[in-house]
Amino acid sequence: MSEPRPLILVTNDDGVQASGIQALRNAALELGDVVVVAPTQEQSARSHAITIDRPLRHIVHQTDVHSIDGTPADCVYLALFERRFLPRRPDLVLSGINHGPNLGTSVFYSGTIAGAREAAMRGIPAIAFSAFSDTDFSALTPHIARIARRLLQVSSPRDADSAVLLNVNFPKQPFSQVHVTRVGRQVYEERVIPRFDPNGREYFWIGGRVTEGVEREGTDAHAVSLGYASVTPLSLEATSAEHWTIAAQVSLEGDKP
Ligand code: MN
Repeated sequence: MSEPRPLILVTNDDGVQASGIQALRNAALELGDVVVVAPTQEQSARSHAITIDRPLRHIVHQTDVHSIDGTPADCVYLALFERRFLPRRPDLVLSGINHGPNLGTSVFYSGTIAGAREAAMRGIPAIAFSAFSDTDFSALTPHIARIARRLLQVSSPRDADSAVLLNVNFPKQPFSQVHVTRVGRQVYEERVIPRFDPNGREYFWIGGRVTEGVEREGTDAHAVSLGYASVTPLSLEATSAEHWTIAAQVSLEGDKP
């Protein structure tokens, strides 16, 4: 008897209409049955927000393609816990392809990665994919299919308590190698632009381009800058072993006031 086809949930943070998610869906269709549940509107840099203060509206775009007017984490949560979206628990969750890289500190801001993380938190292996926004996303389909197929092969149901979460970034150019990397330190410009609206009230634009810096060897940003694809395993472990001692020191009743 043949194995059932894998069931793959696909989401993103650029919205259900983005070309990146269409390329990702095409890659997933090479591997199994695919259901898309993605935000109706762009949700980039919404990180792992969930919407608990208003109702979530649902649009059916075609069979097995849905959108929710919420965040990527909302989409994955609903797909997993509201029966109408999926016939069973998915074997894999894919998020992206994000229009823009998610390197370094972007892992904390990215809605794309949060969509994948929401699945990993529920014990389902997940991969976030990102590429530069001027990329021909369809050219990435075979690379994505290969990576996702391998993860389905190497991750098993016994991993349910510690599901794999991978952050994949593609370089600007066609690439020959995929490097396993650590999260780098790449940060965005500390830029604030104050302006005035037509009513004379001041407002701000924040955020900017990635700062030029020397990335250390072995990081995601370093690999991508050299033209390699990057695969970074991300942890759900939030406790800092590095600062355990400091936490212990501030917990002690020491110096008298
Ligand atoms: Mn995005």
